[in-house]
Amino acid sequence: MHDSLYFDEQHLAVRETVRAFARDEVAPVAAKFDALAEFPWQNIKRMGELGFLGVPWPEELGGAGLDILSYVMVIHELAKADASHGLTVSAHTTLGTSPIVNFGTREQRERYVPLLASGRVMGGFGLTEESAGSDAAGTRTRAIRKGDRYVINGSKRFITHAGVGEVFVITAVTDPSKGTHGISSFILTKHNEEIEKARPWGIGHDDSLPAMPGFSTGRKEDKLGWRASDTRELIMVDVEVPVEQRLGEEGAGFVNFMKTLDAGRIGIGALSLGIAEGAFEQALRYSTVRKQFGQAISEFQGVQFQLSDMATEIEAGRHLVYHAAWLAQRGEPYGKAAAMAKLFCSELAMRTTIKAIQVHGGYGYTKEYPVERMMRDAKICEIGEGTSEVQRMVIARHLLKELAG
Ligand SMILES: Cc1cc2nc3c(=O)[nH]c(=O)nc-3n(C[C@H](O)[C@H](O)[C@H](O)COP(=O)(O)OP(=O)(O)OC[C@H]3O[C@@H](n4cnc5c(N)ncnc54)[C@H](O)[C@@H]3O)c2cc1C
Repeated sequence: MHDSLYFDEQHLAVRETVRAFARDEVAPVAAKFDALAEFPWQNIKRMGELGFLGVPWPEELGGAGLDILSYVMVIHELAKADASHGLTVSAHTTLGTSPIVNFGTREQRERYVPLLASGRVMGGFGLTEESAGSDAAGTRTRAIRKGDRYVINGSKRFITHAGVGEVFVITAVTDPSKGTHGISSFILTKHNEEIEKARPWGIGHDDSLPAMPGFSTGRKEDKLGWRASDTRELIMVDVEVPVEQRLGEEGAGFVNFMKTLDAGRIGIGALSLGIAEGAFEQALRYSTVRKQFGQAISEFQGVQFQLSDMATEIEAGRHLVYHAAWLAQRGEPYGKAAAMAKLFCSELAMRTTIKAIQVHGGYGYTKEYPVERMMRDAKICEIGEGTSEVQRMVIARHLLKELAG
């Protein structure tokens, strides 16, 4: 893809900054944080300083004031070195912060967004439950209005940043008789479970955020990939939430999180693309240094064909991701493009990382090279923020709607 198709000089400057950070500060530690399954607080601090944790938000709310293409580029470039770092940006920005920016009152925006955009505290989004996975309308978490507050009971599964975060947007049923129109969203706050680990970097907690009684974190998931990303349960037992903490109108929660997920798909598309490109670059380089039968394996047509297929598909993925971001930036409908980008690139990341291991032979199957981590990181991209099957459902819905006019 020619840079000038979507990028101006500012985009290219952002790309240089992210590439330098990814090369110098992410790639060298990615294997360590993966092995330890630890959240990389030091790099979170750096990403906050570099503006990566609030790329598209206005400067008056503490953001970097850049556009959606820049935001997507940050995720894409980080994921080439480490998917967990890319996910941290994506989950924190699109899932954790964007609902407050997009659907919050002025007071809510001014209170929470500067803390999130600067990386002072981490944010997350609690939608998934045991009964509500692909069928997000299956939410059982209940919010009952009592005077000037709601009392919330329920639990959320697989929530990114559940342990390390302090600000969460969660969904709960306010009126069971209204189906999806009876789901609302709320801003809840709690304390970071890793305050001690974050303290040396001066981030991870803000005294102005109360730990709401009854709002807590469950067990940490031991995952195949995205191991440097924090995934845990969120538990709510009689959490008293003031009415001012409701996000948007009562009953607007479902429609709002559908919009949030549309945008999130571009981010996961970019993340997947980054994984695929990172693995391809490793394979390409390796093929020129590994010698068998007296020559570099890159001289063999069988290896060349694999490299050519990877490069061609990655090029197609770039167009899908940046086209979806470009539509979103222009305020045009982008739901179908975002689902296509997410579907294609997540499956591309899986195909490419498997091929990259093949090019590395037995060495690719060991932790001596990063391609095995990349393969583990790729799999969840076909599941999180809507499985591949859900993306196909979304795309088909658009196709049939277009046909009906
Ligand atoms: C590491 C990680 C991080 C996550 N982060 C978050 C987060 O921050 N916030 C959050 O709210 N959630 C998060 N999730 C949850 C994630 O979005 C869900 O796991 C995902 O949406 C799938 O839901 P499920 O796991 O319940 O699978 P299920 O919905 O049970 O799906 C099981 C299988 O059935 C298929 N299936 C289901 N329905 C259909 C259908 N109608 N047609 C065809 N096939 C179907 C699915 O495609 C899948 O293959 C995270 C998950 C993980 C693993």
